[in-house]
Amino acid sequence: MVKLVYVFGGGKADGRSYMRNLLGSKGANLAEMSIIGLPVPPGFTISTEVCTYYYEHDKIYPDELSSAIEVAIRKIEDEVGTVFGDADNPLLLSVRSGARVSMPGMMDTVLNLGLNDKTVNGLIKRTSSERFAYDSYRIFIQMYADVVMGLDRGYFEEMLDLVKEENGISIDAELSAEDMKTLVYRFKAKVKEELNKPFPEDPYEQLWGAISAVFGSWKNHRANIYRKLHSIPDNWGTAVNVQSMVFGNMGEDCATGVAFTRDPSTGENVFYGEFLVNAQGEDVVAGIRTPQSLTLAGKSKHGSDLPAMEELMPEVFQQLSDVRLTLESHYCDMQDIEFTVQQNKLYVLQTRKGKRTVQSALRIAVDMCDEGLITEREAVLRIKPQEIIQLLHPTLDPLAYRNIIAKGLPASPGAVSGKVVFSANHAEIAARKGERVIMVRIDTSPDDIHGMQFADGILTTRGGMTSHAAVVARGMGRPCVSGANNIRVDYFNNKFFVDDYEVKAGDCITIDGGLGEVMLGEVPTIQPKFSNSFVRIMEWADSARRMRIRTNAETLSDAQIARDFSAEGIGLCRTEHMFFEAERIVAMRKMIISTNETGRREALSTLLPMQRADFIQLFYAMEGLPVTIRLLDPPLHEFLPHTEEEISEVAKVVGMSVEMVQRRASELTESNPMLGHRGCRLAISYPEIPEMQARSIFEAATEVAKCGKPPFPEIMIPLAATEVEVRLIKTIINRVADEIAQESSIKVNYLVGSMIELPRAALQADKIAAEAEFFSFGTNDLTQTTYGLSRDDTSSFIHSYEEKGIIKADPFISLDQQGVGELIKIASKRARSVRPNIKLGICGEHGGDPSSISFCEEVGLDYVSCSPFRVPIARLAAAQATITREDMMNKIKD
Ligand code: PEP
Ligand code: MG
Repeated sequence: MVKLVYVFGGGKADGRSYMRNLLGSKGANLAEMSIIGLPVPPGFTISTEVCTYYYEHDKIYPDELSSAIEVAIRKIEDEVGTVFGDADNPLLLSVRSGARVSMPGMMDTVLNLGLNDKTVNGLIKRTSSERFAYDSYRIFIQMYADVVMGLDRGYFEEMLDLVKEENGISIDAELSAEDMKTLVYRFKAKVKEELNKPFPEDPYEQLWGAISAVFGSWKNHRANIYRKLHSIPDNWGTAVNVQSMVFGNMGEDCATGVAFTRDPSTGENVFYGEFLVNAQGEDVVAGIRTPQSLTLAGKSKHGSDLPAMEELMPEVFQQLSDVRLTLESHYCDMQDIEFTVQQNKLYVLQTRKGKRTVQSALRIAVDMCDEGLITEREAVLRIKPQEIIQLLHPTLDPLAYRNIIAKGLPASPGAVSGKVVFSANHAEIAARKGERVIMVRIDTSPDDIHGMQFADGILTTRGGMTSHAAVVARGMGRPCVSGANNIRVDYFNNKFFVDDYEVKAGDCITIDGGLGEVMLGEVPTIQPKFSNSFVRIMEWADSARRMRIRTNAETLSDAQIARDFSAEGIGLCRTEHMFFEAERIVAMRKMIISTNETGRREALSTLLPMQRADFIQLFYAMEGLPVTIRLLDPPLHEFLPHTEEEISEVAKVVGMSVEMVQRRASELTESNPMLGHRGCRLAISYPEIPEMQARSIFEAATEVAKCGKPPFPEIMIPLAATEVEVRLIKTIINRVADEIAQESSIKVNYLVGSMIELPRAALQADKIAAEAEFFSFGTNDLTQTTYGLSRDDTSSFIHSYEEKGIIKADPFISLDQQGVGELIKIASKRARSVRPNIKLGICGEHGGDPSSISFCEEVGLDYVSCSPFRVPIARLAAAQATITREDMMNKIKD
């Protein structure tokens, strides 16, 4: 029989941390912590397989579940010494969700379950506090009625306010035991009145209701959106964790908090965290009360007046510090811990891999390697390649004037300016119009996620470093200042006030999430320098990876940026892009619309020195590294004159009448320019074009060879479908190369190769490889032609294809490994069969996409080529692909 329920607690557990898929991250780690002897309140986890079963069987549970739960409850009772539903000594439970990956705040939770009109007396007896017991009871009713029974929370908030008003008090803490009792009765009556059924008294009925609500919340609206945003599959399901309650709100010797084993913002190896005395866990995250620092160092860093746990509860602090060390040495990674202190006794409620900024991830990985906790290869695997892009976040220009109007906490680094918006929807609307926006909120909740995604920066007036805004912004890599509490937000009038300033929606502000500063107006920014940790990780990555990383560049500045990022050559220089400038495009147009060879040669002779000068610059910049120059591949429509002004300008330059130019332009217009007279087809029709390009390449190379490192051009033929095209063009290139070698007496080393952009070319790879000395997979066109999907026209439907699950990801972003990938595999194999050492690379956009890079490693390509800013991402992704492949091979060998 399949095991459905996994018990933990008392130094034992059925599960382990590696069982994350089955038990969810929370459940797996609770089991692990029990086993390593940490103080975890006992409980059990209902597996994600039950969730899957529940959804596949019309919300019915497996038959065996009920008895398994009863057995598990008995074990908790034995461990804690209380009895579920017992009027004298009741066991109270928390019921929480727990998916494979954390989805903070997306699913439902019920606390204090097991309370009813009888067991509340047992709780009074045990705690000697009627007020506490009835407060717990009313919290339970409020949560349960909302989460399980679907009654609007607003009713309870209203009733709470009414009781306070009746008693002339303003804060919850002043409510007496009698007030709490009144609230319990009123709450229950409200449930009956609104739902026409009583609030359940039977603890097992309560438990089943809560379990179903948690499983049900896997598919609530918030969770669905969150999963989509984070590419979490719907079929993973959630586990349910049922655990004996511990209370951080029983008095002044109780507390609750969140801790990170290292600073999640900087990665520094210091204990970092916040807590609240006499509070429940939700209070810390909600950001309603200002939390206190755990350590004295943290207190002084944040300039707080509130005592640190280190001074307030020194013994508990010491226990917590020990837990920190145990967890780090056990998991060998920075952990995010939730804890509760009940009457001076520490309980750990959760541990998980701590979310961190990329800067801190780098530092933590490098430090842990230096501390001997992990190897260099493990350190490389710890960094998410896509996140490297955040390192390119600008910081404020230190010399620029800053009108600082408020200070908050440095919740997520990066400096950004934008227009103020006050809601998630406004953030989305403005961002979709291309505006940069800062979303300003009192605090954020899971309902604001889409706004946070669209905003360039986030500013909140409440909440600490672990508030929802701070945690989510860090996870998303958005700059965020949280808890800027001298700002007063007026949502109603779309304004905020701070000191004498009034800032309206649409006004520009700047936030610095690294310093916690808020400034009026736009402050200039500068690009960051890479940290020492980044440099070391990249060195380790470079020594681990097998594939070379090149860049797609045709301008000197792009080539230099790529070199600064350690690109190892140019993998694609799109020569047609070198003709977009005003002066050049006219000559280009002249060539295109010429009706004879003489006219074309005339235009080409204007272009030749320009091309030569460009190549000289690129060769110098690349210092002898390979430079792949692709022969002209203009989809003609991009260059044809369209407007009257363009037509008359071309007419003047070419010496034709306007009508003739118009006629020629319409003759050249194609129904399907992407599949038309482009690529090597142009070179076949007009051999003078490759001839001019070859001449400019070899003349440039010869000149650079005279005074610098000998350049290494790799001349590439675009959109070839047959070996004959390649042979004809190669003959021209070789002839020109020989001519120039003779003229200059300098022999330039070069290769002639082909792009593989058409399914036919992939299938005929052995024939083409007989002519071509290298292949570069042009996966933009290869995707277009394999899928029969126009690369310029997919935006209207590709997202709905993703939503309907027809495709996993946009194939123009992430390589379609089954279709396009299969063609790449076939082409590589067939090419190697005739030319075993043929150089193979990729230069479509996929060359900068980590999952596509991992595929390239699998196929054994020699290099990937990507845009300059993606070069560091590609270096890291390629290293991870090699390490993962080698680790797998070693495992198989063992
Ligand atoms: C390609 O098709 O993948 C390619 C790199 O060429 P382009 O994007 O210029 O068509
Ligand atoms: Mg192409």
